[in-house]
Amino acid sequence: MNAMTQLKAAEARESAVEVKDLGIQYGSLDVMKSMDLAIARGEFLVLLGPSGCGKSTLLNAIAGLLDVSEGEIWISGRNVTWAEPAERGIGMVFQSYALYPRMTVAENLSFGLRMTKTPKAEIERRVAAAAKLLQLEPLLKRRPGELSGGQRQRVAIGRALVREVDVFLFDEPLSNLDAKLRAELRVEIKKLHQELGNTMIYVTHDQIEAMTLADRIAVMRGGVIQQLDAPAEVYARPRNLFVAGFIGSPA
Ligand code: ADP
Ligand code: MG
Repeated sequence: MNAMTQLKAAEARESAVEVKDLGIQYGSLDVMKSMDLAIARGEFLVLLGPSGCGKSTLLNAIAGLLDVSEGEIWISGRNVTWAEPAERGIGMVFQSYALYPRMTVAENLSFGLRMTKTPKAEIERRVAAAAKLLQLEPLLKRRPGELSGGQRQRVAIGRALVREVDVFLFDEPLSNLDAKLRAELRVEIKKLHQELGNTMIYVTHDQIEAMTLADRIAVMRGGVIQQLDAPAEVYARPRNLFVAGFIGSPA
């Protein structure tokens, strides 16, 4: 193997995101202790578990939105434990879309990039690409108030996409939508992942979302991963009664 192939092989082995021995406290409450998790490049990992089990806490720690009390977070081979969110090479989508009501869809999409030194032509290229992927082209001049819930959430996803980073984090992006829209957007997110091939960490308490989207599911309870396996494996061979009950019966 020459140096270049060696480098390529090393890159391929390297995890997209690695959480090492992570501990998080809220005041005196230990929400997470000694959490270890490695997510492969291009993987769609779903964090699944009941409300309050620590899914958002873990995602926010990876995003740099809260301080960790111990351990390390690595993204694309860099230790980012103390890096600012904007420097971590991630894009994040939240449950509430938090769009700017006075800005058009196009302005909402470009806002984050306009805060950086990205050249105007490059911003336009990325906004156009995201709008195309998410079928937002006819809506670019509208304001959030003139959009449906599903369209707003598409804009929120678009805002993360324009960053063109390798890792996307989703925190229950569909839970404010009705069942029909949820099913539609689920298919779109799956397609998006297939087209972009990037790494996704997706938080949900919805078993169907987890089963249909995930390459692997991390089933969480009380700040601890109970099982980390492919959906079929989790379903067919739940590691314990909690996993069996949670996957088996809709919450
Ligand atoms: P999930 O996203 O799985 O519903 P969270 O990560 O939001 O769970 O919360 C995990 C635990 O941490 C819960 O017990 C919650 O009450 C607690 N928690 C979350 N955020 C805070 C906070 N800012 N201050 C104190 N406790 C918090
Ligand atoms: Mg949450």
